[in-house]
Amino acid sequence: MNIHEYQGKEILRRYGVQTPRGQACFSVEDAVRVAQELGGKVWVVKAQIHAGGRGKGGGVKVVKSLEDVREQASQILGMTLITHQTGPEGRLVKRLLVEEGADIAKELYVGMVVDRATQRITLMASSEGGMEIEEVAANSPEKIHKIAIDPGAGLTSLDAATVARAIGIPEGSVAEAVRFMQGLYTAFTECDASLAEINPLIITGDGRVLALDAKLNFDSNALFRHPDIVAMRDLDEEDPAEIEASKFDLSYISLNGNIGCLVNGAGLAMATMDTIKLFGAEPANFLDVGGGATAQKVTEAFKLMLKNPAVKGILVNIFGGIMRCDTIAEGVIAAVREVNLSVPLVVRMKGTNEDLGKELLKKSGLPIISADNMADAARAIVTAVSSH
Ligand code: ADP
Ligand code: MG
Repeated sequence: MNIHEYQGKEILRRYGVQTPRGQACFSVEDAVRVAQELGGKVWVVKAQIHAGGRGKGGGVKVVKSLEDVREQASQILGMTLITHQTGPEGRLVKRLLVEEGADIAKELYVGMVVDRATQRITLMASSEGGMEIEEVAANSPEKIHKIAIDPGAGLTSLDAATVARAIGIPEGSVAEAVRFMQGLYTAFTECDASLAEINPLIITGDGRVLALDAKLNFDSNALFRHPDIVAMRDLDEEDPAEIEASKFDLSYISLNGNIGCLVNGAGLAMATMDTIKLFGAEPANFLDVGGGATAQKVTEAFKLMLKNPAVKGILVNIFGGIMRCDTIAEGVIAAVREVNLSVPLVVRMKGTNEDLGKELLKKSGLPIISADNMADAARAIVTAVSSH
C-alpha cells in the first residue's frame, strides 16, 4: 500500500526523522492559511499524488509571497499532473502539501528496500539526490552505496556513519545523519514498510539533515496490525477495478493487453499469462479467484474484466482441486448469461468433475470454446481474438 508524501513525513517525524514543517491542504484557502500559519518568507506548494517526478511535471513550486501561494495552489489543485510515473493519462491533483521552503546546500539520496537476495533490509545511499535513482544506478553505479542491515543488530551507528561519509555528508552533520538513518530504519521495521525513499535528503545551509521528500510503501500482508496506516489509504489514487476486486476477495491487477484471464491460484495465473504471451498476445489482467470461488464470485470476476474496454476475449483456466469443475462451469454459464457476453470465451478445466463441467458447458448452448491443455487454450483465444 502507498501513502502520500505528507503522510509519510508525519510517520517519519514520529521516529525523529526531521522534515520541513508543513500541512496537507484540500483547498486554495487552506493553502494560504497554512502558509500564513507557518510564517517565514519561502513556501513550497506540492501536489500530493502517489507518483514521483512531480517537480519536473510542474507539481512542486517554490514561492516567496502569500499571493504566489494562492496563485500556485489554484494552478496545481485540480490539474492533471503528468510525470514519468503516472503514464500519459496523468493524475488529478486533489490534495496539496504546503511546507516551509528549505535552504538547500546539498541534495542526497537515501532509500531502504527489502532485498530478497540477502533476506535483509538494504540501505542505499547516494550523493546524487534529487534525480531518479534508476538513472544513477544505470549510469554511475559506483555512486550508490549499499549496506545489508543485520536484523539482530539493526542499523549500527558505525555503518550509518560510514554511509554518511561515503555520500559526502560534511563531518559536522554526520551525527545528525546517523540519527536520521537510524530513525528511518526503525520506522521501516516498526511500520512493516516494503520500501522507503528519501529523495532528496538535504543538508541545509546551517548543517541540518532533512527529508525533503518521502515515499513509503507498506507490506499489505502486515496492514492488519497498522490500523493507523490503513486509515491513510487514499482510494482516489488506486485503480477502481482493483478496489472493486478487493470487495469480492479477488486478486486482480490491471494490465495492458486485451485478453482477460480468470484463473484459480496465483501460480497458475502467472503461467496462464506467460502462455498467452508465448502465443503472441498480451493479458489484460491478472485475476486469481482463489480456492473457494462460488458462482457469484465468478460472475463478479467476469463483470470486472469486462469493465475494461480493451478486453477482446476471455480465457478461463481452472484447476479443479478443492474447487470442482462443475461448480466453475455453473459460475461461467451464469456469468456469461448475466453479462450477455459478446467477446470470445475459451474455457480450460482440469481436475475434479472435469467431465461433468465440460458437459454442462456443452449443454448450455453458449458459444464457449473448450480446450484441453494450456497451449490449446491460449492458441484458441489468441486466434479467436484476432479473427473476431
Ligand atoms: P518529486 O520527487 O515528486 O519531484 P520532491 O518532493 O522531491 O518531488 O520535490 C522536487 C524538488 O523540489 C526537490 O528536489 C527540491 O529541489 C525541491 N523542493 C521540494 N520540497 C522543498 C522544500 N520544502 N524546500 C525547498 N525546495 C523543495
Ligand atoms: Mg523526490
